[in-house]
Amino acid sequence: MTTVIKTVGLTKEYGGVKAVDDVTLDVKQGAIVGLVGKNGAGKTTLIRLLTGLVRPTSGSFELMPQSGRTSTDVAAIVETPSLYNDMTAMENLQIQCKILGIKQDEQYLAQTLIVVGLDPNLKRKAKFFSLGMRQRLAIAMALVGKPKLLILDEPTNGLDPEGIRQIREILVHINRENDVTVLISSHILSELGKLATEFYIMNKGKLIKHVTAAELEGETAQKYRLTVDKTGAGKDALAELGTAQIVSASQIELYTDASISLILHKLAEADVQVTSVTQTGDALEEFYLQALRESEAEGGAQ
Ligand code: ATP
Repeated sequence: MTTVIKTVGLTKEYGGVKAVDDVTLDVKQGAIVGLVGKNGAGKTTLIRLLTGLVRPTSGSFELMPQSGRTSTDVAAIVETPSLYNDMTAMENLQIQCKILGIKQDEQYLAQTLIVVGLDPNLKRKAKFFSLGMRQRLAIAMALVGKPKLLILDEPTNGLDPEGIRQIREILVHINRENDVTVLISSHILSELGKLATEFYIMNKGKLIKHVTAAELEGETAQKYRLTVDKTGAGKDALAELGTAQIVSASQIELYTDASISLILHKLAEADVQVTSVTQTGDALEEFYLQALRESEAEGGAQ
């Protein structure tokens, strides 16, 4: 499989602090890679390195090392997208073509706007666009040069759930239809969980874990929150099914691959009354939290 992004020991220090610390990764063509980590984990800095906005302190990276790279093969949206506010969406794409020194026919530009859910004939200037429309126009601008790799830093920041869903659908569409490899950072797991084909988890500048969506699907363990009358006895009864912990005066959290009927059976045997069971979290969230716990226990490094 063709490598699209390759980094070796990539490191960026700011005043002795390693914002990105010894990152080695290999992204293959066709992937949608989710870069996950809490605020300050180093996601933006890694993206800034890959897009040439900052220079590494040490280590190296290559984009499309095998196929050779043209100037329009990589497009990125980092920080606030720069749009031409006094122009319509179509005019924004036209000027982007001029800047990139490329010719694209009107039909391609109109089609690109349709892909991102914007009307090619809309006469409204970009300054009157909603945040969601601005983000979608930014993606259209990035697609003008028919990139093979699209890098996006927190593209759904500030968007409502509908806006987030639209961006997700656009990215899946261009990945499948145009074979665009996507690297997208986010601190909102649920957003990436439905989109990415693989995940890199960052903490304190380091890549601490990598997992594919297929591997996560194989994870059968689930997290349950149970409201019970006796938390102590309940926790003891559930200990053999997985990891149980008391989270409030009446609630236990259980991480297990056991069935709900078995969980309820164990509690009934121990004479613990259950008033509610809810399933919380998902495989990605559990994987992420576990990775962070392991990383913190090891002092932030792997
Ligand atoms: P967020 O989601 O908040 O953007 P992030 O995962 O993208 O977080 P970065 O913005 O890459 O994290 O920041 C990583 C660390 O590097 C932080 O501790 C941050 O304060 C530091 N840092 C980033 N840029 C600079 C800079 N230009 N000068 C000094 N420190 C910086």
